[in-house]
Amino acid sequence: MDRREFIRKSALFGAAAVIMPEWLASCSSSESGKKAIEKSAHSSGKMKLSFFPYELKLRHTFTVATYSRTTTPDVQVRIEYEGCVGHGEASLPPYLGYTEEGTMNFLRKVDLSQFASPFLIEDILDYVDSLEEGQTPAKAAIDIALHDLIGQLCGRPLYELLGYDAAKCPSTSFTIGIDTPDVVRAKTLECAGQFNVLKVKVGYDGDEEMIRTIREVTDLPLVVDANQGWTDRRKALDKIQWLKSQGVQMVEQPMPKTQLDDTAWLTQHSPLPVYADESVQRLRDLPKLKGAFHGINIKLMKSTGIREAVRMMNYARAEGMRVMIGCMTETSAAVTAAATLSPLVDFADLDGNLLIANDIFEGVLVREGKLTLPDRPGLGLVEL
Ligand SMILES: [Mg+2]
Repeated sequence: MDRREFIRKSALFGAAAVIMPEWLASCSSSESGKKAIEKSAHSSGKMKLSFFPYELKLRHTFTVATYSRTTTPDVQVRIEYEGCVGHGEASLPPYLGYTEEGTMNFLRKVDLSQFASPFLIEDILDYVDSLEEGQTPAKAAIDIALHDLIGQLCGRPLYELLGYDAAKCPSTSFTIGIDTPDVVRAKTLECAGQFNVLKVKVGYDGDEEMIRTIREVTDLPLVVDANQGWTDRRKALDKIQWLKSQGVQMVEQPMPKTQLDDTAWLTQHSPLPVYADESVQRLRDLPKLKGAFHGINIKLMKSTGIREAVRMMNYARAEGMRVMIGCMTETSAAVTAAATLSPLVDFADLDGNLLIANDIFEGVLVREGKLTLPDRPGLGLVEL
């Protein structure tokens, strides 16, 4: 088998679980794709991995019940191959439990030189996953960069190679932060003109006042995230019934992840769909959630990236569960990767890039509240 044939077969079989055979059709029908394959076929180049810490500066102080912060640690990842550079990142909000140092140490262990091309993405990601338990943001960074890279080598947008219709991208919700009533009113008015769905944190004293304040100025659909804030299932049900009367459409993680039986009872009685967030990290968490939630919130930093996120979507659908896609505070690299999967979800919560003041890419945009993917190869990122 010559090298050209090898790369074609790798694309077909190596990446088959994630990437549809249209990849090859796309690659061979586009001029840039043809050139990329041609170039790869006659080269013995290796993938080059590089990474550097990049602190994300938040536009507004992020406050939850237990702490406030103004920055998020982040590590940017690049994988270079045949003149193309794939971009990925590991966002490290403290509650996830991973550090910049741990992430950098993990990435130092990754040796991509043993793989002939990025089209061997299944083997590469199995290898990366086997290096160490956990480290899901670092693994996601490599997964995202490889997907971006393959799209660029084929000369087609990643969503196209995956077989997704970008026109089906949903609206994204935008979170209104906890603040004084005057600030909440002003923020809501500002956001109501740009977004079609607003997200509100609940599960603390004063959450009803927050909802009422928002309702004074807009009748847009709302979704709420209790972040495990309710511990009494009957009180939680009363609260959900009240929220429904306020035009709320769904509830994320109402009870602590340790209270799965109570959550299952609540889900059974709830008039609104109940989604898991803190209760789900990776594919292996899903079997135990069946019946306890109506749906799951998939985040690339927890799932180890796009490959496993797709597997999670497939599993959830097979079990009759709903799917939403969320994110951390991230640059447009990871948010665009998440948005690439959004044509397949019931609900998208992808405002993480809009919450930072020092994004380094332009990628997915929000137009009239809807996620709008760039029509450029790979993730279609442009460095700012
Ligand atoms: Mg959440």
